Amino acid sequence: KPKVIVVGRSNVGKSTLIRLLTGNKKVRVGKRPGVTLKISEYDMGGYILVDMPGFGYMAGIPKKVQEKIKDEIVHYIENNYKNIAAAVHIIDAKSFCEIVERWKDKEIPIDIEMFDFITELKISPILVVNKMDKIKKNKWNETLDKICSYFKCSPPWRQWKFIIPAILKRRYGLEEIKKMIYERVELFNKLRG
Ligand code: GDP
Repeated sequence: KPKVIVVGRSNVGKSTLIRLLTGNKKVRVGKRPGVTLKISEYDMGGYILVDMPGFGYMAGIPKKVQEKIKDEIVHYIENNYKNIAAAVHIIDAKSFCEIVERWKDKEIPIDIEMFDFITELKISPILVVNKMDKIKKNKWNETLDKICSYFKCSPPWRQWKFIIPAILKRRYGLEEIKKMIYERVELFNKLRG
């Protein structure tokens, strides 16, 4: 079965999405042996949903551990990319912009690094821009266009079908995410024959 991976920094709403998609079903396939960090796989019928650990800076987690988490995610993707139909990459709209603006010209933000890595392997991205409730409604377009260009995609953001604004705590955007996952899985199966 094809895999659909879910990646993102910690606290972006990754667990919230996993819960919404799996409906708390006990469909967990299990943690992967030999992996110290939590990579959980859920059998969703048509595909396997893979919950990756949160990457990047986390308060109270040593830098060495953060590096190790990132390495394990990268290794998992490298070892499985031929079987990955899509990568759902979740970001927090507001804090993502703050991080990018703070580190401008000094460091490549980990989200952009991860996005580039995923797309270089020809894995279809689904970029979920979560916590849009923290952005004033009249700033949505401007913010999404800005995020779009940070990921080296030219605005307007709407031309990029893979960018989905969301408020996961209110299920806003959920249907579109599900639809996109199914489209990607179907296309992947068709191309694989
Ligand atoms: P994870 O660390 O990425 O797995 O994130 P969680 O799903 O645990 O969510 C982290 C925090 O963000 C929790 O307090 C959630 O209630 C909150 N959260 C999730 N979705 C949203 C959202 O759409 N808007 C806001 N404002 N908070 C959210």
